[in-house]
Amino acid sequence: MSEHNFKKKFGQNFLTDKNLLDAIVRDAGVSNEDSVLEIGAGAGALTAAIANRAKNVVSFEIDKDLEGELLGLGLKNATFVFGDALKTSMEQIEKYFDKEYKLVANLPYYITSPLIFKFLEESGKITSLTIMVQKEVAERIVSKKGGKDYGVLSVMISFFGSAVITRYVNRKMFYPVPNVDSAVVKIEIDRDKYKNIDKDKFAKFVKACFSMRRKTILNNLSSGLGVNKKEIALAIGEETCKKRAEDFSLEELIEIFNGI
Ligand code: SAM
Repeated sequence: MSEHNFKKKFGQNFLTDKNLLDAIVRDAGVSNEDSVLEIGAGAGALTAAIANRAKNVVSFEIDKDLEGELLGLGLKNATFVFGDALKTSMEQIEKYFDKEYKLVANLPYYITSPLIFKFLEESGKITSLTIMVQKEVAERIVSKKGGKDYGVLSVMISFFGSAVITRYVNRKMFYPVPNVDSAVVKIEIDRDKYKNIDKDKFAKFVKACFSMRRKTILNNLSSGLGVNKKEIALAIGEETCKKRAEDFSLEELIEIFNGI
């Protein structure tokens, strides 16, 4: 591994501490009946810890230079796919899984949000995501109404399930050492939670609500959805109009959405 040319553009900060790697797999609740998807195999340290507990693991890695290292590990229940997980269609990814699966990953930070949204919005088989993310992103994910980090990510994740931070991880645990600390977040998916709500329309609504943090929900909805202010005020009420999106819980936002 010492000869590997670490690529910053791919977010290559690897883990080696076996206790930490095992702890992440335990946080994910992986058992020998589980199939696991990993995004970003790196040198395969987390892949090996997953393979040790899971039925099987499929791991995507964008950097072809790591192929020799990964195949050299000789992990019998691991399949490595060399390609960009973000650009691979959900259908293509899920061909590797005949039933439900868990995602476990030390994510490349530059694609954290799009990757989370991709799996929340497009997957029909994923049951949980246990992911190492930048500490600040983890705090945004679990934030509740009124909190400074509360926003689209927090709302949409509680729409699709629930999230907890399982552990904080100091930057010194990675090689090379990044300039941020990290945390592991576990997101459990509950697909039936709001199954009567059109998720694409709701996602668009939430993004509009939070588009300008300092503006009222009325102004944001009117400009974001291209709807006349009077019509919105009539549908959601004068009092609601004066508040900002961050003043509303998921349930309250759903009520406003249904009103419109
Ligand atoms: N899992 C390893 C570990 O914990 O040591 C590596 C984690 S490192 C933070 C992220 C890995 O994701 C890197 O190996 C990087 O090359 C890979 N990667 C970056 N972008 C990717 C993408 N779009 N699709 C698949 N892998 C990607």
